[in-house]
Amino acid sequence: MKIMPNRMDRGFQMYQQEFEEKALEVLRSGWYVLGKEVSAFEEEFAAYTGAAHCVGLASGLDALWLAFRILGIGKGDEVIVPGNTYIASVMGITINGATPVFVEPDEYFSLDADRIEEKITSRTKAILAVHLYGIPCRMDQIVDLCRKYRLRLVEDCAQSHGARYKGQMTGTFGDVGCFSFYPSKNLGAFGDGGAVTVKDQALADAFRMYRNYGSEKRYYNKVVGANSRLDELQAGLLRVRLKHMEEITKERQEIAAYYSAHLNNPLLKLPVARNDTTCVWHQYVVRCEERDRLMDFLSSRNIGTIIHYPIPPHLSEAYQYLGYQKNSLPITEHLADTVLSLPIYNGITEEEMEQVVHGINHFQ
Ligand SMILES: *Cc1c(COP(=O)(O)O)cnc(C)c1O
Repeated sequence: MKIMPNRMDRGFQMYQQEFEEKALEVLRSGWYVLGKEVSAFEEEFAAYTGAAHCVGLASGLDALWLAFRILGIGKGDEVIVPGNTYIASVMGITINGATPVFVEPDEYFSLDADRIEEKITSRTKAILAVHLYGIPCRMDQIVDLCRKYRLRLVEDCAQSHGARYKGQMTGTFGDVGCFSFYPSKNLGAFGDGGAVTVKDQALADAFRMYRNYGSEKRYYNKVVGANSRLDELQAGLLRVRLKHMEEITKERQEIAAYYSAHLNNPLLKLPVARNDTTCVWHQYVVRCEERDRLMDFLSSRNIGTIIHYPIPPHLSEAYQYLGYQKNSLPITEHLADTVLSLPIYNGITEEEMEQVVHGINHFQ
C-alpha cells in the first residue's frame, strides 16, 4: 500500500454529500462574489475563534500583506518574524517594503520568545507570531513584549485553526490574526482562500475596503487596494467544513497521539506540545540527523513524507537582497536539514498509520 504525504480527497469524502449539496446551492444561486455565504462564514468563523470580526480574503498571503499595509508598516520599519517559517510569512512583510528581522526557534519550531527582546530596535514596529505546524507560540510573553515596546502584534494562523494558548484561540491575541484556507490547511477550501480576525471594527472596515479595490462604495476608491475577495463557493464549502471542525481537529490530535505513543526509534526526535496549549497538528514533524536517508528509506517502503521547509526564507533566492549568509541562523538552518513531516490527514486509516510507524521503527 502506497501512503501519500497528504490525501485531500479523504477530507472531501468524509462530508462529500454536504459539500456537493452546498456547491450546487451556490452554483444555482446566481451570486458568486461577496454575498451571503461569505457574510455567514465571516460570522461563523469569528464566533468559532472568539474574535469580534472576521473578514474573508483570497489567501493567507493577502491576509498577511494587507495586515501590515493597513497597520501602516512599510519602508524603514522592522518586523520581528521567526526564521523558521513558511516564506509567505516573510513575504507579507517585504511586499510592503518593511524589513524582516529573524528570530531563531525554540524546541517548538517557531520563534523563541526569549530571543525577541535582543532584536528590538527603534525601528521595530511589529511582531509576527507564526503558530507553525499548529503549535501555538508562547503568547503571554509575546503579548507582554508588544505592550512594553508598543509594538503591533500580527499572528500567522495559516497552520493553527482552532489551536489554543492557555485556552484562548490563536488569532485573537494581537491586532490581526491571519488565516489561510489553502486546501491542505486544517480548515481547507477547494481552492484558495484566507481571512483575518480582528477585535476592532475600524480595522475590519479597512480590510473590507482594501479587499475590494479600496472602495467602500462602488466606483469610489479611497486607497489603492487589492482584489482579494473570498468567493461564495469557497465560503459555502468552508462553512460545511467549519461545522465539523471539532471532529476534524480531534482526529488530527488522535493521529499525533498515535505516532507519539508508537514511534520508538532512538534516531528520531518527536514533536511535543508546549505546556498550556492545545495543538492542532497541521504537521507532525520529526527530527533526524540523517533525515535524507530516512526519507529515502521510507520512500522505498512506499511511505511518502515532505520537508517543511528545506530552504529557510533568509537563504532563499528571493531574499538574496537581504544579504544573509549560511550560518547566520544556525538553529533554523539545522532544522531545515533535519525536519521531516509524517503523513497526517483527516481520513487516514489505522493500517496507514501502522505502516508509517512500522517503517520508521525499522530505520537504522
Ligand atoms: C500556507 C501558509 C501561508 C500562506 O497562505 P496562502 O493561503 O497559501 O497564501 C502563510 N503562512 C504560513 C505559515 C502558511 O503555512
